[in-house]
Amino acid sequence: MVDTDPRRRIPRTDRLLALPEVIAAGERLGQSTIRAIVADAQSAARSGRMPVAEVVPTIIRSLAPRAASSLTPVLNATGIIVHTNLGRAPLSDEARQAVLDATGYVDVEMDLESGRRSRRGTGARAALLRACPAAEDALVVNNGAAALLLTVTALAERRPNASGAAGLGEIIVSRGELVEIGAGFRLPDLMVTTGARLREVGTTNRTHLDDYARAISAATGCLLKVHTSNFRVEGFTAEVDIASLRGLADEHGLPLIADLGSGLFVPDPALPEEPDITTALEAGADVVIVSGDKLLGGPQAGLIVGRRDAVETIATHPLARAMRTDKLTLAALEATVTSARNPVHEALHIDVDELRGRTDRLATVLSADAGLGDLPVVAHDGRVGGGGAPGVPLPGWALELPEALAEPLRLGDPAIVTRLHQGRCLLDLRCVPETEDDRVAAAVLAAADRLREGRDDPEPRADHLGEGRDGLGEEG
Ligand SMILES: *Cc1c(COP(=O)(O)O)cnc(C)c1O
Repeated sequence: MVDTDPRRRIPRTDRLLALPEVIAAGERLGQSTIRAIVADAQSAARSGRMPVAEVVPTIIRSLAPRAASSLTPVLNATGIIVHTNLGRAPLSDEARQAVLDATGYVDVEMDLESGRRSRRGTGARAALLRACPAAEDALVVNNGAAALLLTVTALAERRPNASGAAGLGEIIVSRGELVEIGAGFRLPDLMVTTGARLREVGTTNRTHLDDYARAISAATGCLLKVHTSNFRVEGFTAEVDIASLRGLADEHGLPLIADLGSGLFVPDPALPEEPDITTALEAGADVVIVSGDKLLGGPQAGLIVGRRDAVETIATHPLARAMRTDKLTLAALEATVTSARNPVHEALHIDVDELRGRTDRLATVLSADAGLGDLPVVAHDGRVGGGGAPGVPLPGWALELPEALAEPLRLGDPAIVTRLHQGRCLLDLRCVPETEDDRVAAAVLAAADRLREGRDDPEPRADHLGEGRDGLGEEG
């Protein structure tokens, strides 16, 4: 009898493990990884998610030495500079090199001259203080959220006095500044995990100095000012600036913390409303908190900068050890802060005429070759994105492509992420290095080909597929 169920022909495990490609992969990958890849392919075929004939090519492709991690490099053609889903800031060449150099043994906590233990990350700290002379000291932790958590924990702590026990005092914060930072995470929820109580003052749209003043009591631990980094409230609004809060903090001997979110050191004319560290410190914040991977253009990190005694209190809190930064981060941060430029800075200050020229050239090449007709270049506003300059348009240009191209572009090599907007697929070169323009053109041509063939191949790196196919799917 002829066997009609193709699933019976799924190659057996021992047969698959004996493939030369699989044996060769054993030099690089652990047996558990290899067995899992084999089992995944078999199970996909068993459940009908994959044709039996694809089992061997899929295994070979999964084992190919192209990348040791599953993170796929992406060209960001969305026009959104700090794109959280795409890893926020891309590092500069200097920062990449610094990371590479730091991967082995490094003197992260040793003074090579004396051979003794030194303070961790002195280079990054010194670079931060050079970039920001208004700061007396700086501490780097894992991210902005960690910086906020640690700072309020350390600074809102009250010493025991005659009337009350020690513990965390209340954090006074405006109702208009209770930010949800993304993926459902809310700063107020984060802060109450410390055991501190939030004392919300004012209303969503208006908060006055008097609201803060009335809330201050013996239970107060600190005043907190949070930049509303991902939304705007317009209309009848009022907030209290740092300088006014400083006066109040001095009157009552309270620490004043400013969480700015993004990491500008000094004002940037391109983003007139975006707060910066220097201005916030000069206005009187004891400590300022920013992220390393937003407008600063560096690695994921939380920077705590400000007055020496405040930073010292934070740095010596036991919780600081749980938020200690990795050597790779310290290396990338120091290199970022030291270099004059980085990709975030460049995308923000891009020459709009050059962007237009590049987009026009891409349109010309593709209109001639892609079989998609004449592709229009349209005005398109970029964005800072990811916690910076909410609602501020960055005028620029984009190539308009058929919406159906978005998926094959994402799955292509290089993977290109475009902006889907009102049924259009917009390709914005603002955040794409100019050196990649030819690869972008080639990738769009390839995506258009795949679309035309109606073969929306979910595994675009299919060029190795030919090998090893023969006969092996036929095992009974
Ligand atoms: C982004 C942001 C944070 C969180 O920083 P992460 O580095 O993402 O942890 C905190 N506060 C504000 C105002 C932010 O914009």
